[in-house]
Amino acid sequence: MEWTWTDLWGHYKYVFTLDLVRYGIAASLSYILIWQVFGRLLQHRYIQKKRPGLKQHWHEVRYSISSIAIYAIVGVGILLGVRSGTMQVYSDFSEYGWGYLVLSLTLLILWHDVYFYWTHKWMHHPKLYRHIHKVHHQSISPSPWTAYSFHPFEAIIQAAFVPLFLFVIPIHSLALFIFMIYQIVRNVIGHLGYELFHNAFITSKWLNWITTTTHHDQHHHYFNHNYGLYFTWWDKWMKTEHPRYKEEFMEVKARKRSPQPKTSTSTQAK
Ligand SMILES: [Zn+2]
Ligand SMILES: [Zn+2]
Repeated sequence: MEWTWTDLWGHYKYVFTLDLVRYGIAASLSYILIWQVFGRLLQHRYIQKKRPGLKQHWHEVRYSISSIAIYAIVGVGILLGVRSGTMQVYSDFSEYGWGYLVLSLTLLILWHDVYFYWTHKWMHHPKLYRHIHKVHHQSISPSPWTAYSFHPFEAIIQAAFVPLFLFVIPIHSLALFIFMIYQIVRNVIGHLGYELFHNAFITSKWLNWITTTTHHDQHHHYFNHNYGLYFTWWDKWMKTEHPRYKEEFMEVKARKRSPQPKTSTSTQAK
């Protein structure tokens, strides 16, 4: 296995930049669009009563950048793993075919969901919580910036599922790229603060296994329920789903938009 420090540093910078751009675009776009541009129009869809202030956002962005710096180290580890032959990331489509690409991507999503549920529940253990997971829960009312807001120890745990997967299952670089977009989009949606999902995500058996924004929002608000990430299965099976998950979702969705005040805030500020 051949490598140089310059080579690894180049790869570190590449992974760091890519993830920073991914997080930056997903979190900023959601914040600008949902919180700012359509914020007033969607006011009644804001799940919690209290909104975070600038101090919380700064905490979230700082910890998110630190997490990205750690994810890039894991990225370098993956590069070394691939070069040594212990992990497999391939780039030739004909090697395993398109069917395998879709299957491996699905497996990676399922694996992330199960890995997240159990490591998350484990990090809630009173002996570990304060040292690992507390940073993330300092956002009681989450925002798109909360997505990567983890203590460095938690960032390592959060990233480790990828190399663990690659030890066993080869994956195409395109599948890995699609997955990285999927995970940040779902992560930001979970921390969006506004419930924008259709009621069918609660009422239909075809869709109610997908987590809504209220699902993870309740985890930040009430702390001891809804540990799941993409799917509601594990919380259902382990009986950790919040008893008022469906009710609270429906309650938010039933709210009517309040009529626009006659005087705008800009006028009031004058
Ligand atoms: Zn938690
Ligand atoms: Zn969270």
